[in-house]
Amino acid sequence: MGSKKIKFITVDPGDGKVAIADPEKFKQANRTFIKSLVSHPVTETLGQYGTNCLVNIINEAGGLPTKNFTQGQFEDHDKISGETMYDIIKERGGKPKHNCHPGCVIQCSQIYNDAKNERLTAGFEYESIWAMGADCCVSDLDCIAEADQIMDDIGIDSIETSVAMAVAMEAGILEFGDGEGVCRILREEVAQGTELGRIIGNGAYSVGTTYGLTRIPVVKKQAIPAYDPRAIKGIGITYATSTMGADHTMGYTIATNILGVGGSVDPLSKEGQVELSRNLQIATAAIDSTGMCLFIAFAALDNEECIPAIVDMLNARFGTALTGDDVTDLGKYILKLERDFNQKAGFNNADDRLPEFFYNEPIAPHNVVFDFSGEEIDSFWDF
Ligand code: SF4
Repeated sequence: MGSKKIKFITVDPGDGKVAIADPEKFKQANRTFIKSLVSHPVTETLGQYGTNCLVNIINEAGGLPTKNFTQGQFEDHDKISGETMYDIIKERGGKPKHNCHPGCVIQCSQIYNDAKNERLTAGFEYESIWAMGADCCVSDLDCIAEADQIMDDIGIDSIETSVAMAVAMEAGILEFGDGEGVCRILREEVAQGTELGRIIGNGAYSVGTTYGLTRIPVVKKQAIPAYDPRAIKGIGITYATSTMGADHTMGYTIATNILGVGGSVDPLSKEGQVELSRNLQIATAAIDSTGMCLFIAFAALDNEECIPAIVDMLNARFGTALTGDDVTDLGKYILKLERDFNQKAGFNNADDRLPEFFYNEPIAPHNVVFDFSGEEIDSFWDF
């Protein structure tokens, strides 16, 4: 989209009214759905600390990629954590709880003010804070917020660009921890389209290959996000097999590997990870196709009334008679269709692999590597 100079797509809602085939049934199902959302502990935490509640949790698990994926813990994690962010927001009169669209009951978004109590950024996400923070070793939350705001303003992805910055740091373009340098490069190089700006603005793969690095954290040329696949192995299967490239949202195994949502699968063991990623990717493809926010998934995985309520809402909205199995089949269909698209575009199993350094560089504190064979990864597609 960027290469075609598309910054966003908007859909004209016409008169804004949505036709509902059975309004009473929809209202009832919606009530059950909302109840399941607001009573889930992860959903509640998201409403208080936003997605940045994850910094301390993932750091504790040893899976917070730090200094361009060379360590699994960041010594300054407290300075960039959701808890610290919450205190700063309260102190400066920002908004700790905010919805990114009307009607959301989770409200994981927030408005973060600067030291003069003026709005600096909004929707300040864990992944952006991790990438500019731990991965680039920047521990000043205000500086990360400023970078976030600049990236939003330019219209570039804050995970891809920040991981690109960390790779640039490894290449010696700027020092690890140089937050002011990051903001300067964003403002004076990336936003202006200079030569360096274009190299960084094109992402982590572009930076790594331009400067001849071998440690480039990407899959299908997309930057790997905020969870180290050596210490949290399920997410490594998602990164490898996702049709998008390294996309944590396509099968968020962190839920089960770390948060104990939808059961529990040991993040350090290989056992059960392929199946976990597969089930989550199928469910996610189905949820995404409804247009709902993915954060409903925590309740959907734990509350047995949640998924039937979603199916009831779909049926009430469209006048259909879908079952839960139909919705699962929809998820499978979507994934296979996307894979078919990729294969026709020239991708094959060799693209479903993590970069080599994840297989041969153990990461502290658990000193583990990503140890799935190609055959084990490919078994993901056995459905
Ligand atoms: S819609 Fe999703 S991302 Fe937006 S505020 Fe609600 S939970 Fe957060």
